[in-house]
This record gives sequence, structure tokens and C-alpha cells, in this order.
Amino acid sequence: MTEQVLFLDPEPHSYRSRKIVIRPARRHAVVVLDRDDYVDAHGEENAAWPPEFHDAVDKLRMVFIDRLSLDGDSASFVWGGDRWITLYVPYPYVDDVVEVLRAVELDADLSGLEAMVGRLALPLDEWLAPGERLLRRGADFDARPTTFLRFLRHAARRQGLRLNGRATAAGVWVRPQLSPAERLSRAAFPEEYRDRPDRWTDAPQDERPWRPFDERIRDQDGGRAAVPVAFRNVAARPLSDCPCGFQNAFGEFGVGRHEQQHQLWSIGLRLPKNISWGRGNVAVVTTQSSVAWRRLAAKVAMAPKRENRYDFTSWEAGNRPEPSSTNRRAYLLRSVEYVIGYLVAADLDRHQRWNLDPDTPYTGDDTGTRPSIDLIWVAAIHRARGLGNALVHALAEDFGCPATDVSWSTPVSESGQRLARSLSPQGIWVH
Ligand SMILES: [Zn+2]
Repeated sequence: MTEQVLFLDPEPHSYRSRKIVIRPARRHAVVVLDRDDYVDAHGEENAAWPPEFHDAVDKLRMVFIDRLSLDGDSASFVWGGDRWITLYVPYPYVDDVVEVLRAVELDADLSGLEAMVGRLALPLDEWLAPGERLLRRGADFDARPTTFLRFLRHAARRQGLRLNGRATAAGVWVRPQLSPAERLSRAAFPEEYRDRPDRWTDAPQDERPWRPFDERIRDQDGGRAAVPVAFRNVAARPLSDCPCGFQNAFGEFGVGRHEQQHQLWSIGLRLPKNISWGRGNVAVVTTQSSVAWRRLAAKVAMAPKRENRYDFTSWEAGNRPEPSSTNRRAYLLRSVEYVIGYLVAADLDRHQRWNLDPDTPYTGDDTGTRPSIDLIWVAAIHRARGLGNALVHALAEDFGCPATDVSWSTPVSESGQRLARSLSPQGIWVH
């Protein structure tokens, strides 16, 4: 799906026309109501939104961001401007949002927008009600319990609550309490809290120990009083974007997803049970292999895609076995129970020559059919051990040519150039 522009004003359209732009992202669409130039043309007073509009649209924005966060969407959301409205919208709601914005902009009708907020708002008040409870997965919420707990903690903080909580397979145990700072603030500025009464302080207290934790833990110190741990601060700037390609990897919503991605990048993909690997540590998967193998290659392909922030993956599993006119194939390298290397190639017949000097252009015009590398990837901890070299040799041997005859996809990355130079110091074929 590419960007879509819907004009709100009748034709002919110009840059002054009001429009709704829908921009697809990975897990949501960005919907922008843009009237910047329209306001310039008609004047601020004549193009003002109803006063309640901002409040309602802010609410809807937060509802969607909450829902996306609960879904594990880790994008960072920013918005701003009085002349355009940006919403991050889960795909199933895009059409409804367009209709609602159109009604606001053309008819100053807020009813649809407000109804949508009412319909989609998450039951945060209920989730953060006082008392110790188990919120059950499937009944009270649908997300993964760890994701849900992370989300709830964040939501609790926004309300000045401290959330004792623990995720289990069945759901999430919670005991929300007013944070000490919030209690002080409420005592000092009661008028600011008139519409948000304190439901937590005088809630009936459960005198039993906090249920999710095992009683035994309390007695492990043998009853002797422990000295509290000391805390201090040092200047530290740890990285936020990980070399595995995950941006803001340690941010609130990155944690679980990043660990999964990082594991694939660093140690490779654990072989699934439905794969029966024959003799030899390299498997050659084609577009006609079974779906289990095609999917395996597609999963491994996610690692280089993310690491290099490519828009497209180098291997699609496809719906059914299908011949490939260029004999596209993936070489998977196995070590013990992991796939740790990956080479995708096809047989192509348009190549040029390159002497591997970055300042020299490609030359010549070769129409011979050559095994042509699209991408090579090796799991991070296994790099610089000759695995890429071995994969290229396997490709060349299968084709029946020396490794110097292989063609490389351009632009050749720096690590690719090092590998190519080691295999073919006099220069390489490129496509
Ligand atoms: Zn990482």
C-alpha cells in the first residue's frame, strides 16, 4: 500500500485544497488531515475548528496509541500543529477515521468523532481500580500478559499511580496505589483533582501478604533484618539503537520484541521441529521447496532485512511452490540446532566488471549466465570465521564454476567487498 491522498474540497484541486493523507507504516497507518494552505487562503477566523474539536481529537489519538502499544507497536508517536491533525490508526479503523474527520472538517460535526472515542476507549479506570485483582487474559484483555503489564504500568504512571503487578500465564495481578508524590500533590492542589477523586487511599486494604509472591520468599533471610541497598547515580550514555537494527531497543515498548530480534541476529534461528534436515550443514531452499522450508528461509531473511533496514525482504515464503525463472534459491548454513548463515542467489545474465576500487566505475557488458548473489548474511557472533566464504564456494560449486565467476549485487557493502576481495582479489563481476 502506498500513500493515499483524499481531497475534501471539490475539483479542481490545488495545494490549497483540504485533504486527508493516509500513509502506511508497518503496524499502523498515519492519517493526516491537512488544511495548512487552506487556512492561509481563507484566514484563521473563517477556518477555525469548533472549540471542542481539539479535546476530542486528542482523546482519539491517545485511544489509538494505547491500542497500538498494547499490540506491541513500538513506533514513537509525534504530532503537532493546529493546521493539521495527525492520527496513528490501527488498519481496521482507517476508513472510519477518514469519515469522522471528513464530517468534522466539512460539516463541523463532532458526533462521529466523540462516538468513536467512546466506543474504542480502553477500560483504564476499571483496570486501575483500587484493590488487588487478577485481570484475566481473554476475559479482561487480549494482549500478551507481559506486554499488557508494561502498558498498564505506563498508564498508571500517567495517572500518578504506582502499580504493583505481576504477569502470569493466566493474566496479570495488579494492586494500584497512589504514589507518594501524587498523594502530596493531591493534598497541596485539591482543586486540580476535583474531577479525579482519590479512589485508592481509603480503599479496603487486604491484610494478607501480596498474593502473587510466594510467602516463602519473605522468610529466606531467616528473620534477620536486612540492610537496605544503597543507590547512586553515575553519568552514563548507553546506546539506544542496537546493532541488530532495532531502534530505541531499550525503550518501554521495545523490550520483549527487541530481545527476540536480537537473538535471531546474534545467534541465528533455532531450527523448528517441522524441519527434517538431511546430511550436510547446508540446505538449498528453492521457490519450489515445501512451505516449511520456504518459511524457514523467510524467517532467517528477517535478520539481514532488519539489520540493514531494508524495505524489502530478500526471501518471500510465497503461497505455494512455484518455479522461478531465474532459479532463485537460498543457502542455509546450519550449526548444531541453529541456522547461522544465509545466502540468496539467482542465475542472471547481465553483468559488469569491477576491480573493487571504490573510485573506479564498473566496466564492460557481460551476458553470460552467472550465479548471482543477492545477499549474504551470517549471525553476528559467527562472523569473521570464513562462513560467508564457504557459502559462496557452495554456490559456485553447485553451478560448476570457480568462485571468481560469481556475480555480486550492487552496491556491494563494505563487508561484502572484504569477502569478495578475499575470494577474487583481481576484481569481481557485479549486477
Ligand atoms: Zn539488538
